[in-house]
Amino acid sequence: MSAVSAESLPRRLTFGATDCRHPMIHPHTELRKVSDDIGHGVFATALIPKGTMVYVKDELELEFHPGDRRIADPRYADIVETYAYLDPRGVRILSWDNARYVNHCCEPNTMSTGYNFEVALRDIQPGEQITDEYGLFNLAWELRCCCGAPGCRGIVHPDDADNLADQWDVQLKDALSTYLNVHQPLLPCMDLQTRRSVMRYVKTGKGYRSCRALRFRHDALAISA
Ligand SMILES: [Zn+2]
Repeated sequence: MSAVSAESLPRRLTFGATDCRHPMIHPHTELRKVSDDIGHGVFATALIPKGTMVYVKDELELEFHPGDRRIADPRYADIVETYAYLDPRGVRILSWDNARYVNHCCEPNTMSTGYNFEVALRDIQPGEQITDEYGLFNLAWELRCCCGAPGCRGIVHPDDADNLADQWDVQLKDALSTYLNVHQPLLPCMDLQTRRSVMRYVKTGKGYRSCRALRFRHDALAISA
């Protein structure tokens, strides 16, 4: 995923929007320049209704396990640090498509579910920037935020997920309440087991998987290393 603010980031790379032919981010999106400070972002090209999957992790995503020499390789370290997120296993995930350019906002219009996909928290209008909650990406350190939202936290803290998960789960459950009513173009990219788990929850209201399931403890990595 991409950046919070220019101060927190190394230089960014630029890729054309057309290098993504079969995106795992919603197809009604495109890459645009936001500003010199922020760099690029992902924008909706059509209405994306609340409850729509906006990103799903597919089998083409690059994975960097702890100890992977590429993480420390000076040729790749900046790229991995800037664009990858950390999953609950402590594995860095680098999106191969425009998903890596989605910016953080403290009042985002998408958010990671405990099912490992991003869902639209509300209707996203054409031309609106797709934004996400980096507090669920297992940050190793604080990031200064200049998202401009009225509720901007100023700093995105590594432990925000511990303090705000209940509030985020309320938002996620509300978004998932319309999951069955909207077109889900990314559904074929979701693995079968996850698809069944999500379907069980949205149909029965049972077995909800909290966004807390995404949490990874950096101290656990240090102990196991
Ligand atoms: Zn903010």
